[in-house]
Amino acid sequence: MEDCIFCKIVAGEIPATIVRETDDVIAFEDLHPQAPHHVLVIPRRHIATLNDLTAEDAVTVGNMARVAAEVAAERGFAEAGYRTVMNCNQQGGQTVYHIHMHLLGGRPLGWPPG
Ligand code: IMP
Repeated sequence: MEDCIFCKIVAGEIPATIVRETDDVIAFEDLHPQAPHHVLVIPRRHIATLNDLTAEDAVTVGNMARVAAEVAAERGFAEAGYRTVMNCNQQGGQTVYHIHMHLLGGRPLGWPPG
């Protein structure tokens, strides 16, 4: 999608520190990390919000979770624990309208979120 910053990262049109790539998913460092490890996992295909998912996206969303777990394991914080978050729309705190899974780890994380 033309004006989507994450589509531009997928296309290589703007820089990102890519940490993992698969056929349907990429993972890269968040620009404003909220934890010692803060990685975003996104589908290559533009999907604006969780509300736009269809049955066809099920495998890709599963792959997003798998990639997040693999990055956590590679970085050595899988056993200590981590959080994945997918924000949806305004009250959910979504600011980029291309779905993404936040992977946060490397420190204790409070609950409930704000
Ligand atoms: P949201 O608030 O759940 O939509 O999360 C969007 C995330 O994207 C935020 O954590 C931002 O820091 C991050 N972000 C925005 N632009 C970029 C970028 O160009 N590269 C990497 N992360 C970005």
